[in-house]
This record gives sequence, structure tokens and C-alpha cells, in this order.
Amino acid sequence: MSQAPAFDGFEGSYLGDKSNLRPDSRLECKICWWVYDPATGDEVWQIPPGTAFADLPAHWRCPQCDCPPEQFLLLDSATRKA
Ligand SMILES: [Zn+2]
Repeated sequence: MSQAPAFDGFEGSYLGDKSNLRPDSRLECKICWWVYDPATGDEVWQIPPGTAFADLPAHWRCPQCDCPPEQFLLLDSATRKA
């Protein structure tokens, strides 16, 4: 049982799989490049600092372009050396 995923998606995209996210993971909107940083939270949606991306409410959208969180790209380089 080791089937590869049928669709790899964009490099860096987490594709809605929250198991790929860490509490301090930052993610970037692929439409407008707005970055969600858990250390900052989100003023627009009144998300308090320290809220992980995976813990954002289900109705959360990019505060700049209104795209859904599935469209965000995982920014991993800040916390892990390639
Ligand atoms: Zn956006």
C-alpha cells in the first residue's frame, strides 16, 4: 500500500492537508502574496497572535483577495534549512 498521490499540485502548496502544517508555519497567498504569520495573526479577521494556520476558522479567507486557505503556499524556508 504505497501508492503515490495522483496529483502533486504546486510545489510548496499544502493542498488543504493540515497535517503538513506546524504551529509556526507561515503561508503565502498565491494570488496576492499576502503572508499569514502565526506570530502576528490577522487583524482583518480578528485572529489573535499565536493562532496556527491550521486553527484558522473554516470561513477564513485571504484578507486581501478573498481566496480560500487551500490556495495558500507553505513557506517553510524560514524555519527549516533546505
Ligand atoms: Zn490573497
